[in-house]
Amino acid sequence: AKQDGRGTFRFFEPALDAAARKRRQLELDLREALATGQFRLHFQPIFDLKTERVGCFEALLRWDHPERGMIPPAEFVPVAEETGLIVAIGEWAMHEACRQAIAWPDDVRVAVNVSPIQFRNSGFANIVFQALARSGLPPKRLEIEITESVFIEGEGPIVDLLHRLRELGVRIALDDFGTGYSSLSYLRSFPFDKLKIDKSFVDSIASDESAVAIVKSIIDLANALHMETTAEGVEEDRQLATLQRHGCSSIQGYLFSCPVAAEDTLELLAKTAAA
Ligand code: C2E
Ligand code: CA
Ligand code: CA
Ligand code: CA
Repeated sequence: AKQDGRGTFRFFEPALDAAARKRRQLELDLREALATGQFRLHFQPIFDLKTERVGCFEALLRWDHPERGMIPPAEFVPVAEETGLIVAIGEWAMHEACRQAIAWPDDVRVAVNVSPIQFRNSGFANIVFQALARSGLPPKRLEIEITESVFIEGEGPIVDLLHRLRELGVRIALDDFGTGYSSLSYLRSFPFDKLKIDKSFVDSIASDESAVAIVKSIIDLANALHMETTAEGVEEDRQLATLQRHGCSSIQGYLFSCPVAAEDTLELLAKTAAA
């Protein structure tokens, strides 16, 4: 039996070791990326259906890797969260987003994704304050996107922080609405400025009646609570038509534009204003 145990141990160890080593290497690479400025933000416009203008850009993190090229967040944000590195990366992103947004017209906001790990970190409000102060961006031009999962460990402290940010003048959006922690009680605890309707619902509205019913209810709920709505991942005209019919306030997706590099945002604004 002892022999078997050792045999089993020897058999599994190298595989576990390889996974752990890969993760450790990614962590080291992420630290290096932060130290040497390999992160970028791309910006995806959010098109306001009432004013027919771009009202906001969502800042989306990219890793401009020296050998592998642009790496999307799905490939490194989870490890950055596990290791806590997301706090420093997110701080960089907050500063960079505010710095870029200053170049846009006064009525164009920037939306920044904030991971629950960052949000629960005690220094978060200060990071926002610093980014606004250093860039000179008026707080009302900054929107923070959080997901329902921040409420998993209780509402009290989170709601207090949301109120502090709101007092600064920052807007708060609830991202990926309908996909996470599914109690609606937090909608009573805090008046969000916006609900972002997850792409998974938008994907099926051209073909699936139940998806249309869900999207319609989210929009009605948002209207009743004086919140705006953004539909994410809009790719087709038919989806846009349904969203428009049900009174969605704004859309984001490849139909209108992919995320673009910072240096292309002004041209995009000029083009859409002229159209
Ligand atoms: P998200 O916040 O839900 O962002 C929307 C994602 O959908 C983006 O992917 C965007 O490029 C993609 N998208 C937009 N329109 C379309 C469309 O029409 N079709 C399709 N197929 N996709 C579309 P991206 O940039 O890869 O980001 C993925 C996720 O990574 C984000 O999801 C967000 O959760 C996270 N993330 C991005 N930037 C940051 C950041 O600065 N901090 C943190 N903590 N997370 C971030
Ligand atoms: Ca988002
Ligand atoms: Ca989202
Ligand atoms: Ca999403």
